[in-house]
Amino acid sequence: MGRDMLTRRSREEILREVKRIQRIREKVMAGEEVKCPNCGQTLMFFGKDSGKHPGIYCPTDDFEILIEYDHLSKED
Ligand SMILES: [Zn+2]
Repeated sequence: MGRDMLTRRSREEILREVKRIQRIREKVMAGEEVKCPNCGQTLMFFGKDSGKHPGIYCPTDDFEILIEYDHLSKED
């Protein structure tokens, strides 16, 4: 017990999760209304100039997808 914890979550499961997040991200960025998978609220998209880290956020803060832009300048 314990040593096999890491293998419990199969690679397939992780891939499925990644794809699910990608799909949500694509839809939201295409302007579609997407509901939070946790609470059902409509997800909000914040772009580069929003003053927040770019990403997709649930209004109740239980879900977020951060988006990294290649050209995002580093702040010090
Ligand atoms: Zn939510």
